[in-house]
Amino acid sequence: MERAIFLRNPNKLHLLPRHYSPRNFFSLFSSSSKSARSSSFTRRILHRPISPLTPRSLLLPRRCRFLPLSDTTYSSSFHFNKHHFSSASPHAIATQCSPGVSTLPDEVAAKYGFEKVSEEFIGECKSKAVLFKHKKTGAEVMSVSNDDENKVFGIVFRTPPKDSTGIPHILEHSVLCGSRKYPLKEPFVELLKGSLHTFLNAFTYPDRTCYPVASTNTKDFYNLVDVYLDAVFFPKCVEDHHTFQQEGWHFELNNPSEEISYKGVVFNEMKGVYSQPDNILGRTAQLALFPDNTYGVDSGGDPKVIPKLTFEQFKEFHGKYYHPSNARIWFYGDDDPTERLRILSEYLDMFDASSASNESRIEQQKFFSEPVRIVEKYPAGDGSDLKKKHMVCLNWLLADKPLDLETELTLGFLDHLMLGTPASPLTKILLDSGLGDAIVGGGVEDELLQPQFSIGLKGVSKEDIEKVEELVMGTLKKLAEEGFETDAVEASMNTIEFSLRENNTGSFPRGLSLMLQSISKWIYDMDPFEPLKYEKPLMALKARIAEEGSKAVFSPLIEKFILNNPHRVTIEMQPDPEKASRDEAAEREILEKVKASMTEEELAELAHATQELRLKQETPDPPEALRSVPSLSLLDIPKEPIHIPTEAGDINGVKVLKHDLFTNDVLYAEIVFNMRSLKQELLPLVPLFCQSLLEMGTKDLTFVQLNQLIGRKTGGISVYPFTSSVQGREDPCSHIIARGKAMAGRVEDLFNLVNCILQEVQFTDQQRFKQFVSQSKAGMENRLRGSGHRIAATRMDAKLNVTGWISEQMGGVSYLEFLQALEERVDQDWDGVSSSLEEIRTSLLSKNGCLINMTADGKNLTNSEKHVSKFLDLLPSKSFVEAAAWNARLSPGNEAIVIPTQVNYVGKAANIYDTGYQLNGSAYVISKYISNTWLWDRVRVSGGAYGGFCDLDTHSGVFSFLSYRDPNLLKTLDVYDGTGAFLHQLEMDEDTLSKAIIGTIGDVDSYQLPDAKGYSSLLRYLLGITEEERQKRREEILSTSLKDFKEFGEVIEAVKDKGVTVAVASPDDVDAANKERSNYFDVKKAL
Ligand SMILES: [Zn+2]
Repeated sequence: MERAIFLRNPNKLHLLPRHYSPRNFFSLFSSSSKSARSSSFTRRILHRPISPLTPRSLLLPRRCRFLPLSDTTYSSSFHFNKHHFSSASPHAIATQCSPGVSTLPDEVAAKYGFEKVSEEFIGECKSKAVLFKHKKTGAEVMSVSNDDENKVFGIVFRTPPKDSTGIPHILEHSVLCGSRKYPLKEPFVELLKGSLHTFLNAFTYPDRTCYPVASTNTKDFYNLVDVYLDAVFFPKCVEDHHTFQQEGWHFELNNPSEEISYKGVVFNEMKGVYSQPDNILGRTAQLALFPDNTYGVDSGGDPKVIPKLTFEQFKEFHGKYYHPSNARIWFYGDDDPTERLRILSEYLDMFDASSASNESRIEQQKFFSEPVRIVEKYPAGDGSDLKKKHMVCLNWLLADKPLDLETELTLGFLDHLMLGTPASPLTKILLDSGLGDAIVGGGVEDELLQPQFSIGLKGVSKEDIEKVEELVMGTLKKLAEEGFETDAVEASMNTIEFSLRENNTGSFPRGLSLMLQSISKWIYDMDPFEPLKYEKPLMALKARIAEEGSKAVFSPLIEKFILNNPHRVTIEMQPDPEKASRDEAAEREILEKVKASMTEEELAELAHATQELRLKQETPDPPEALRSVPSLSLLDIPKEPIHIPTEAGDINGVKVLKHDLFTNDVLYAEIVFNMRSLKQELLPLVPLFCQSLLEMGTKDLTFVQLNQLIGRKTGGISVYPFTSSVQGREDPCSHIIARGKAMAGRVEDLFNLVNCILQEVQFTDQQRFKQFVSQSKAGMENRLRGSGHRIAATRMDAKLNVTGWISEQMGGVSYLEFLQALEERVDQDWDGVSSSLEEIRTSLLSKNGCLINMTADGKNLTNSEKHVSKFLDLLPSKSFVEAAAWNARLSPGNEAIVIPTQVNYVGKAANIYDTGYQLNGSAYVISKYISNTWLWDRVRVSGGAYGGFCDLDTHSGVFSFLSYRDPNLLKTLDVYDGTGAFLHQLEMDEDTLSKAIIGTIGDVDSYQLPDAKGYSSLLRYLLGITEEERQKRREEILSTSLKDFKEFGEVIEAVKDKGVTVAVASPDDVDAANKERSNYFDVKKAL
C-alpha cells in the first residue's frame, strides 16, 4: 500500500521532471518555468521512460538508462497538476546540517594516493567540500561532507561523440551489463531488485556520461559504489559483442525465410525519441546551433545512423574515455571521508595516467556572422487537420565562450522574468496572440559549455509563422526598451530565493542535484565549488537592481545576447503525414538489400546468431554469479514502517492534520475539498477549472497581478484533482487539493491568497480560457506520443472501474476528444462554459467535507492555526450534499489507439480482486520481481523495447502490464500471458528471495523530504490506510515465500484469460496484428 501511495505521490511525479533537468543553481529557478512551458524542448533528447511522464514528464532532458517504475504510475489524476507550484521550483530542506563534519588529515589522503587541491565550507548547503586529485592518474574527486543521510556517489566521464551513432548512449547502457567482479548479465538489475537505493540510474548528455547512485544505508551505499566503479572501469561489454548487439543494434533473423529486422534497446529508444515533434525540434536546434563542435551530432544516436556503429569503434571509445584521467568523482553525505578515498584508491591505482582528458576537451563554437533558417518535417497523423500544426522556434547561442557566473545568474533571472510563469510577459504575449497553441523552446539553457536561449510556438498555421517570429523579436525589443514591472521583479526574486533556500529536490537526492550543478562547470575544467555558492552573486544582483534599477541590469543583456546577436537559428517544423511510413519504407529497403546481398550460408549463420543471442539472453545467471553482487541481509531491515508524526485535531469543526517535522521555517499546507457531489458531466472540466483558479483574475486584480502576488508572498500555490479507488469500496475517493507553501512569517498571506483564488477568481475571461484549452490539447497530443503507456493504462482502468473512467475523462483519450469539442463550445456557448465552471466551484467549496493538512515544526504549526481558522470562517457552510451518481465505464473491448509513431506502447490489465484475491504484502514483492526479471528479460532484453513493467494498484485491484517504446505488439502480449506460467515454474534460492524482499522494502521506505512525508500521510488518511495495516503489509512483505509467488501465478492468470488490452501503436503494426489475429483490436485514430 505504501508503495502504491509512494508511486502515486503527485509531488514526486511533479518534481521528477524538474529535477531530472539538473542545472546550475541560477537556472534552478528557471527550470520551473520550463516545466510549465509545454515543452521539453531543449536540445537534448528528452527521454522519458520515466516520467517525464506527462507533458512535464517530458522533461527528462537526457537519455537515462531505464524508466523507473515510478514512471509507470498512471492512475488517478496526478497528471493534471501542472500548476502545482507553478511559480516556484520546489526545493526543500533535507537536513539540519552543522559545520561540525568530520575532516580528513592530509597524510591520510596521501596514504591512499591523493593530494588535496582545495577545500571550503559551503554555507549554502552546510557542507565541507574538499577537492582531491589522484596523484597517479589525475582523477579528480569532490568529497562533500555534511549530515545528510541520503548519501550520493557519482562518477562522470567526458564523452564527446564525433558522429550520431550513439556510442556514448549505448556504452552507458552496456557497461552496467556485467563486469570483472560481477560477471552476471546485469548487475544493474540485481541492484534494482535487491538494494535500498534512493537513486539508481545513468544519464548520457551531449558531452558527458554520469553514473550516480544514492542510499541512506551506509553498507548498501558502498555496495552500490563498488558495483558502479567495477562496471565503468572493467565492463564485460568490451570483450563480448553480445551486449553491444543487445543494447545497441543488431540484425535479427529468426528464420532464413523471414525478413531481417533491426533490434536493440537504444535503437528502439531513439526511434521513440525521433517520433516526437518536440524532441525533433530540440535536436535540430542543438545540431544547428553547434555545427562545428561535438554538439553538432546526437550523442543519443540517430536511428538512421546507429546501425553504422561497429563493435571496434565502441570498444575503442570505452578504452579512451572511461579512464580515471578523464573522470570526475563525487561523494556526498554523512559517511566517512577516509573510506571514500580508500575505496577509490583500489580502482584508480590500477591505472596509469592517460591523455584522455586532453582529447575529450570540448571546443567552443564560434559565432555565426548571420542568422540561419532551417525547415524540418515531423511525422504527423493523416487524420488530423494539418493546417494549424506547424511549429516555429527561434534559438540563439548566447556567447562564443563560457560566461562568468554573475552573468549566468543574471541571465537565469532574466529568463524567469520573461518566461517563468504564465503571467511573465513573453509567455503571456505569445499565448495572447492566438498565433499558436503552446510555447516551445526552453528559454535559457546553460548545461553545455556555452549557454543558449530558445523560444517559439507550436500549433501555428503556415501563414502565421512569420508573424510569430516578428512577435518574438518585437516583444524582446519592447522588453529591452521598457524594462519589467517592479512587482514582477520582486515576484521573480522571491520565487528564486525561496526555491534556493528551500532546496526541495523532491524525490531526487539533494546531493545529486548539487553534483549535477557542480559538474556543469567542473566538466569544463572550471571551479567545482562555485556553482554551489549562490549567496554572494544573488546578493550582488539584488544590490545592483536596488541601486541601478532593473532596466539598467536587464535591458543591456537582452540587447547584447539576443537582439544584436547574429548567431540565431530559426527552425520551422512542418507536419508530414507521410514521414512515418516513408522512414519505415526506407528502413525496410535497407534491410531487404542487406538480405539480398547475403548468401544462403550467411543467412543461416545470421539466423543462428539470432538464436544464440536469444538463448544467451534467456539463460538465467548461475547462482554463484548472482551471489557476487553484494546485498544487505534481511536482518539489516527495520521491522517497522517509517513513522510520520501526525496529530489529528479540528479547527472550527473542520478536520486538521498536523505533521511536526523540521522544515527550515517553511509551512506546507494542503486544503482538500470533496469532489464527490460534482455532476458527472462536469468532470472533464475539472483540470481547466483548476487552471482557471490560478490563471484568471478577480474583480480587483488582473491575473498578472494575482500571479505576481503569489510569487512575492509565497513559495507557490497549485490546485489539482486527486482521484483514487479505495480498497473494498465501490465508491472512489475524489478530491480537489489546493497546495501551498510559504515562509513562517507569510502564512497569513498564503491562506489569504488561497482564499482569494478559490472564492474571488472570476471565470469571465473567454480568451484566456480558450488558450488553456489549446494548451491542454497540445499537452495531451504530446503525451500520446511520449507517454503512450500512461494513456494505455488510463484507458484500461477506464474499462475496469469508475475511478479509471474519471481519470480518463480528465487525462486520457476521452479528455483529448472533450478538449477538441470544447474549443468550439467556448466560441459558441461561452456563457454555458463559464457557468459550468461556477457550478464546479459552488459544488466544491464547503466547510463540510473540507480537510486541512499542514507540515512544519511545532511552533509554526501552532502559530498557523489562527490563519487557518480565519480561512475556514470565510468558506461557505453547506449542509451535507448527496454524492453524485458516477457509474460510467468505457466499453470493455480490446482497443488500439493509432498514432504516427515508430514504436508502440502495449498494455493488458484485469482486476484481480474480482477473482476473490485478498491483498497480501507479498504482491508488492512479486510484481516488482516480475518487472525486473520476466518482463525485463523478455520485453526489453530480447524483445528490444525500452521498458516493460507491471503494476498492481492495490486500491482498485487492477493488475496491469505495460511496455514502453516497444517494437512489438502481439509478441509482447504473449509475454504478458506467459507470466503465470513463469511464476508457476519459478525456482529461487533464499538469497534471491531476500534480495527481492529488500528491494521492495527499499521502495516502501523510499526517501522523502519533510513535505513529501506530510503529503503521504494525508493520502493515507484519505484512502483509509491505518498504521496497523501498514505494519501488517510490512510483515507480509518480509515473510514472502516462494509459495506466495506460485499462488500469485494462479491469480494473475485472470489477466491472461479475462484481461483487456489497450495499445498505443503505429498504424502498420495494428493492421498487421489485426490480420494475424482476426480483428483483435478495435481501432481508434487519435492524432
Ligand atoms: Zn537509454
